[in-house]
Amino acid sequence: MESYENLLAAVTTPDGGRPVTDPATDEVIGRAPERGTDDLERAVAATRAAQPAWEALGHEERSRLLNAAADAVDRSAEALAHLISREQGKPLNGPGSRFEAGGVSAWLRTAAATPLEPERVLDDESGQATLSYRAAGVVGAIGPWNWPALIATWQFAPALRMGNTVVMKPSEHTPLSVLALAAIVNQVLPDGALTVLPGDGDLGAAMAAHPAFDKITFTGSTRTGRAIATSSAGNLPRLTLELGGNDPGIVLPDADPAAIAEDLFWGAFINTGQTCAALKRLYVHQAIHDDVVDALAEVAARMPMGRGVSEDSMLGPLTTADQFRIVDNLVEQARAAGGRLVMGGAPDRDAPGHFYPATLVTGLPLDAPLVVDEQFGPALPIIAYTDLDEAITQANALDVGLGASVWSSDVERAKQVATRIEAGTVWINKHGTVHPMVPFGGVKGSGYGLEFGVEGLKAVGVPRVIAA
Ligand code: NDP
Repeated sequence: MESYENLLAAVTTPDGGRPVTDPATDEVIGRAPERGTDDLERAVAATRAAQPAWEALGHEERSRLLNAAADAVDRSAEALAHLISREQGKPLNGPGSRFEAGGVSAWLRTAAATPLEPERVLDDESGQATLSYRAAGVVGAIGPWNWPALIATWQFAPALRMGNTVVMKPSEHTPLSVLALAAIVNQVLPDGALTVLPGDGDLGAAMAAHPAFDKITFTGSTRTGRAIATSSAGNLPRLTLELGGNDPGIVLPDADPAAIAEDLFWGAFINTGQTCAALKRLYVHQAIHDDVVDALAEVAARMPMGRGVSEDSMLGPLTTADQFRIVDNLVEQARAAGGRLVMGGAPDRDAPGHFYPATLVTGLPLDAPLVVDEQFGPALPIIAYTDLDEAITQANALDVGLGASVWSSDVERAKQVATRIEAGTVWINKHGTVHPMVPFGGVKGSGYGLEFGVEGLKAVGVPRVIAA
């Protein structure tokens, strides 16, 4: 599985199944098997049967196996990156598919290494109490198409470390990357620990309503997150919902436009904007608004957009035709509302693939759809403000709260502003940089529950208090 061809052959079905296309060329690259509810029943039974033995291995042995899985990923990293680039579209280079494959390995190793000690929560004359976490049991994971292999790992690695076994449903748009990752790690994991069931939203809905799951972790849209919360309510599995966002960034007047431009750019345009915690609306103080716009445009102009598998590309196509239409509509509405297109906004609609150029829009009303709706693509609205309180009000005005950022030469001042922002993470002078030890999760319509680090392990366990 160390070559792209071998990896693809291991996961694609010879005939039948769902055709998977390269979003840069519309070419069919392979066919994914499609699983239904009978397959779900079989997978759930096998996963349930495998769980006690997996849990009984203990933390040390499970961690050893997760590290061995990471070694296997490292050996196949180039093949996996190539497949991600072909299926999802992100470039090999920059914060692209090689970065994604590296993240898979890093998150596996961190899940293996993170200590989770019992906590003594009471120790006085009234008694002693200790809180610890054990496996929840069987975890159902439902994932999106934007970072298919990395987000799958965020879901299954901590779950496995805690002694759960996992059934995972990837997005219908990116099944091969997740099947490939599972094929790689299942070279070292025991049977039944991790099963991937490719299928569509109906299979996801069947999972959400299935009583076998002790825990469901979901990453995707707010709309689907709500459906999962509703349909799982009868069974009361624990839920982690990582949902959409519309992350604001606030640039204070003392920021240095040239110094922050590249980080602003990647905060917004990583994965061609198709990132849950990307910077999606930027509020810039009037005093430096034009300089920030110019600096951003200068960075954007030197980022080549092209096929994922081209070594020259820094930006790729949008993964789906639907996503292209969403971005296109929002930009056209912005144009109609009087927005100024500093760059971009003129895709070649007849060309193959779903390429939408990097687009910067200024001069929009605060309630323009490009500002208040999640674009999930390469079109950034930039809004001038004069009153910081008003910018903070705007940042908090939407019913989502995944990430946010504050940009300033005075880090302490930026941290003060950060305390007033309603988001799961507020970054200072950067945006969207996740770390496997730093808890990550949203508030408001961006969902609930934490991933990563010690909190992420607890979230896929169940508590046990022993009080004496
Ligand atoms: P969707 O919510 O459409 O799909 C996510 C997953 O849910 C897919 O596997 C999908 O299956 C499945 N699904 C669809 N309908 C149901 C249902 N009724 N019950 C259970 N599962 C279902 O999101 P996208 O894949 O389109 O991802 C884009 C969205 O996800 C954006 O809004 C983005 O912000 C958000 N997102 C959030 C992240 C976070 O960490 N907070 C990370 C990445 C994305 P299928 O696709 O096969 O039909």
